[in-house]
Amino acid sequence: MASAEVGDDVLDRDPTTRRLEERVAELLDKEDALFFPSGTQANQTAIWLCAPRGTELIVEANAHLVHYEIAGVAALSGVQVRPVATADGLLTADLVRGALRAPSPHVPRSGAIAIENTHNAAGGKVMPVAVAEAIGALSRERGLPLHLDGARLWNAAAALGVAPAVLAAPANTVMVAFSKALGCPVGSCLAFSGIPRAEVWEIRKRLGGGMRQSGILAAACLYALDHNLDRIPEDHANARRLASALDGNPAIRPLKPETNIVMLDLVRERDTAEAVAAKLADRGVLVVPFGPKRLRAVTHLDVTEQDIARAAVTIVEVMR
Ligand SMILES: *Cc1c(COP(=O)(O)O)cnc(C)c1O
Repeated sequence: MASAEVGDDVLDRDPTTRRLEERVAELLDKEDALFFPSGTQANQTAIWLCAPRGTELIVEANAHLVHYEIAGVAALSGVQVRPVATADGLLTADLVRGALRAPSPHVPRSGAIAIENTHNAAGGKVMPVAVAEAIGALSRERGLPLHLDGARLWNAAAALGVAPAVLAAPANTVMVAFSKALGCPVGSCLAFSGIPRAEVWEIRKRLGGGMRQSGILAAACLYALDHNLDRIPEDHANARRLASALDGNPAIRPLKPETNIVMLDLVRERDTAEAVAAKLADRGVLVVPFGPKRLRAVTHLDVTEQDIARAAVTIVEVMR
């Protein structure tokens, strides 16, 4: 990062940032990509571009776009969320079809579709290739743009053993994050096809996302693509280790992890997620409350197999 060649990205002349954008576009097999300070801003830019004002965004009910972006699609893009309830976080083409509006002067028009892979709130659940392709086929049939929130796409690709481009193929716009699985301090990209770069640029700028010597950040992302992509299966193995170490515990029930997230459900009446998370934090195990009786644990490149063993022992002791 310290030795990155930099320019002024607001003038589109930061060479390291351009290298990253070209690399991401190639990796996801899209026409181009733009570097963003955050995944949230890249998601918001995509929805702004995809869904006309006064239309609906069809999206899984517990998606990041619904819960964790401060009603951004409403506040910024004038778009209404059409949340689709699912049993397990997996949106399907049939469920999307059921949420599409028939033309009528009385109801909103459908504007765009968004999918999330892996699904954070569903515990890092993977959307299989065929499911994403079926939603992509439906989106083309209905002329509705498809956005992929791929903050965790690297994990989905690793879990399925496919190239990220395979999972990105059905979507018109794809957000990928460098600050999650890849371990960078800052940064996401929005990759896109069929939209002029100048249009994406304009919305990013309007949302305040022009960064000057962004090459220092992009350099970290390039490093991460070279060094941290191939090791993601280690995180998935660690998540499975944590879940199996807690399996059968009378007070805390791990859900079976598909990637690097382990959801932990509190079984006893008296335990609350907030209180247990605080006790674990005191002992050096950091988890996030995800509902009144659920904790989320995430494995990543700073967590070793030994750390997992220690975390499991600590959790068992605290629950006892
Ligand atoms: C973290 C995350 C985001 C947002 O990324 P930020 O860089 O934190 O803004 C969006 N979608 C999903 C699925 C995420 O996990």
